[in-house]
Amino acid sequence: MADNKFDVIIIGAGPAGYTCAIRAAQLGLKVACVDAFKGKDGKQALGGTCLNVGCIPSKALLDSSKQFWGLAHNLPAHGIIVENPKVDMQTFIGRKDKIVKQFTGGVGTLFKSNKVTPFFGTGKLLKGNQVEIAGEDGSKQTLQAANVIIATGSVPIELPFAKFDGKRIIDNAGALDLADVPKRLGVIGAGVIGLELGSVWKRMGADVTILEALPDFLGAADTEIAKAAAREFKKQGLEIHLGAKVSNAQVRKNAVEVTYSDKDGEHEITVDKLLVAVGRRAYTQGVLGNDTGVKTDQRGRIEVDEHCWTGVDGVWAIGDCVRGPMLAHKGEEEGVMVAELIAGKAGHVNYDVIPWVIYTEPEIAWAGKTEKQCQDEGIPYKTGKFPFAANGRAVAINEAAGFVKVVAHAETDRILGVHMCGPVVSELIAEAVVAMEFKGSSEDLARIVHAHPTLSEVVHEAALSVDKRALNKAN
Ligand code: NAD
Repeated sequence: MADNKFDVIIIGAGPAGYTCAIRAAQLGLKVACVDAFKGKDGKQALGGTCLNVGCIPSKALLDSSKQFWGLAHNLPAHGIIVENPKVDMQTFIGRKDKIVKQFTGGVGTLFKSNKVTPFFGTGKLLKGNQVEIAGEDGSKQTLQAANVIIATGSVPIELPFAKFDGKRIIDNAGALDLADVPKRLGVIGAGVIGLELGSVWKRMGADVTILEALPDFLGAADTEIAKAAAREFKKQGLEIHLGAKVSNAQVRKNAVEVTYSDKDGEHEITVDKLLVAVGRRAYTQGVLGNDTGVKTDQRGRIEVDEHCWTGVDGVWAIGDCVRGPMLAHKGEEEGVMVAELIAGKAGHVNYDVIPWVIYTEPEIAWAGKTEKQCQDEGIPYKTGKFPFAANGRAVAINEAAGFVKVVAHAETDRILGVHMCGPVVSELIAEAVVAMEFKGSSEDLARIVHAHPTLSEVVHEAALSVDKRALNKAN
């Protein structure tokens, strides 16, 4: 095959794109992957938003800040007193950068070992399954493939009155790279990014005010879980204003004046940094050449069917640039599915059981339907709940806030949803996902042996509680 001819070309090397590239190469296909992302060193950095300025760096800072917060808020309960702890910001941010470099470099190594050819530049789909790559230096080259997969991801939504300037008004990437702890951090949007990055800087000592336009907190989560989480965040000192519509953000010399209104009228707050985290939009601008036949919807997302096929022969799209939740793991599974379909196998993604995780303290995680969804869809259901406060391991580690709720079908007992708020529930949710994938019942979970003493016993007890036979609390 000529050097510019491939079986598969993937535009975008984020979790969706690079996973797709590796799976396609495993299946014996000749694969190219095009990406324009530059790291701090100015060189190509594979891994997209997730590895460079999203999931991985935020988890690094969430952990560092949790350790710092714990010195004053957790260790004293263990009888350990640390006086006057200090933060070395260079190490704090440097550790995160090192982790990012390790993982973005890791994608390069995986490409090498799987014989995926990376191209550095901006890819554009042309008619006839050609991909034009524009380099920073103005160079252009064209590749050809039987299959092209668009995996261009998403970018932060900008508010017209609060445009990102990278200094005072920042996005997620900016909030992961602050040189100092801001005294006052304003956040627009109490979604996943607002809560996670708001938590990081709160724990490091900033006064954090989060302004959320909607009247309900975490509307997509189970109502009781959202309430329990809100209580904990309040205790931590995160100030969250609901029903707060921001109308203006004025950058002054050393601060930002933010105007918002709620049911009590108009208010103004002054902050040192303003993080705008009001969602992300599909990044598809400039990726489609003329007459490719690929369609986008009103939100700029590439239109695809349930198999991520665009309707144009050999053209697919996966990850944040198509419908569905903007979650790395959803994009990864779509990447695997498409690679397998191209190789003539039976690729499939079960969109009904995609776990959600918010990495706050306590963490929040869920999969499947909420009670509200069951009510709206007229599905008869029953629930079982169990608190971490009644679990020996959770109390021993001094992280006993939150609970697990199992929602099961009232007649068949099939698990419809599992909702969690508590310590390390990002890991505990996996058991629920497995049970739901195997179409398990709450009784299945209830009859499985769970190690003692572990946090997973809370899942076990919540499942027992569906049938009012929890063993370590009154039913
Ligand atoms: P989000 O959709 O999670 O939250 C945005 C919030 O901003 C919403 O609550 C919305 O009501 C609010 N909002 C919108 N416009 C507003 C306005 N003008 N004023 C005040 N509030 C406003 O979006 P995000 O937090 O920016 O995250 C972007 C995407 O990245 C999401 O799809 C998210 O799933 C994904 N992400 C996931 C994780 C994770 O899985 N842990 C982490 C980070 C990001």
